[in-house]
Amino acid sequence: MYPQVQLHIAGAWRAASSGDALDVLNPATGEAIGALPVATDADLDEALASAARGFTVWRRTGAFERYKIMRKAAELLRERVDTVARIMTTEQGKPLAESRAETLGAADTIDWFAEEARRAYGRIVPSRASDVMQLVIKEPVGPVAAFTPWNFPINQAVRKVAAALAAGCSVILKGPEDTPASCAELVRAFNDAGVPKDVLNLVFGDPAHISEYLIPHPVIRKISFTGSTAIGKQLSALAGKHMKRVTMELGGHAPSIVFADADVKKALAVLTANKYRNAGQVCVAPTRFLVHESVFDAFLDGFVSISNNLTVGDGLDPNTNMGPLAHSRRIDAMESFVADAEARGAKPVTGGKRIGNRGFFFEPTVFTDLPLDSKIMNEEPFGPISAIQRFSDDEEAFEEANRLPYGLAAYAYTQSGKTATALAQRVESGMISINHHGLALPETPFGGVKDSGYGTEGGADAIEAYLSAKFVTQQGL
Ligand code: NAD
Repeated sequence: MYPQVQLHIAGAWRAASSGDALDVLNPATGEAIGALPVATDADLDEALASAARGFTVWRRTGAFERYKIMRKAAELLRERVDTVARIMTTEQGKPLAESRAETLGAADTIDWFAEEARRAYGRIVPSRASDVMQLVIKEPVGPVAAFTPWNFPINQAVRKVAAALAAGCSVILKGPEDTPASCAELVRAFNDAGVPKDVLNLVFGDPAHISEYLIPHPVIRKISFTGSTAIGKQLSALAGKHMKRVTMELGGHAPSIVFADADVKKALAVLTANKYRNAGQVCVAPTRFLVHESVFDAFLDGFVSISNNLTVGDGLDPNTNMGPLAHSRRIDAMESFVADAEARGAKPVTGGKRIGNRGFFFEPTVFTDLPLDSKIMNEEPFGPISAIQRFSDDEEAFEEANRLPYGLAAYAYTQSGKTATALAQRVESGMISINHHGLALPETPFGGVKDSGYGTEGGADAIEAYLSAKFVTQQGL
């Protein structure tokens, strides 16, 4: 059963004050399954007033208390995993196993940040005079406006909400309009665990309007956004105009380099699994495959064979390996990538078409040897389309890896320690995973450089995005 989606403002679950709502679709059928409440300005004003009150309460709540409440929220999510995962798959499309993994992963993220709440240390700076004490204390930055997308309805939100709550900030979360109900379950877990009313508000509606309303508002002190580079730049500009701090997790176009000495079997297994996870709608999905000519044919054959053997279907079916795309906009995008490649004379080695006309299914699609100016080689595919390119000299691979303005994730397979070191030093990306897929753990940094954004949402640095350092100096001890 798909739940009724509601806003959560000032501790109450409720409809939008106008009663306006948009359809929520099941991407496996294309049919409406629920209604998204569209927040009005009056609703946003209430959320802002609530977040301001919530901040005064939560910043004075001791770190140990915040930790205990957050740990309870993590436990509640674990207890509710079956229900939450079904909701997520029904509205987002990903296979049930992936929805379960996302929900359980979110619980681990909450645990990590709960523990970070207890480690938000300041420091003592030795003073020049013996009667002066100099302290640096960490304070929560203030109420946060967080904007999160539909590809990981819980995990994109939890990285922001858990870090902000750990720091002592209140939050207004603008959840994803295509996949609202599973995101709402995250908020429910926090509230049921005892996060005081006013501390965590949830709104939905017109994303452009909500961001333009919240970002300039004086109550809001920090902006965090996950989504496309184009929108991220707009929101950063608006935040800059109002001197608000930002964290931006934006698009990528991950180079995935298979060198001549690679374990090709392992590269194939790991890269294809991560390429087709969530039907390729992952900002760190491997997308530009750069393969040495000596192993190119073996890699391509293996890639095509794995792609052709995937079971594409409804994510609720346990046999499904890859679900539908999350909405019809992604089908349009896939068709435009294919049309662009075909206009340049390329033919897909496999796939290339929408599957049926019910739901938003698309074939696993592989192109090879595309011209560098083709759309797929320049824009993030964000879907089950791969471009597999060959190189003969390692330098070419390094150059291609760094050609685009993106710099989020990168992958490489090599048995050479020297090549691995060169990769770590030379590839312009926020994260690089060599000979395995090891990204997106709560305890490790997660974020990009260049057009892929600013800031990190994992590891020991992540809570800093929600803290300010205050210097206190006192004489007369
Ligand atoms: P979109 O840009 O319309 O929406 C992406 C997300 O951004 C949605 O959740 C939406 O609510 C939000 N958004 C859009 N405009 C906004 C605004 N003005 N203010 C605040 N939030 C806003 O695009 P789409 O069709 O949903 O997806 C297209 C592209 O977005 C993808 O190709 C991909 O590059 C990118 N995307 C990236 C991620 C990620 O994890 N980095 C997630 C989803 C989408």
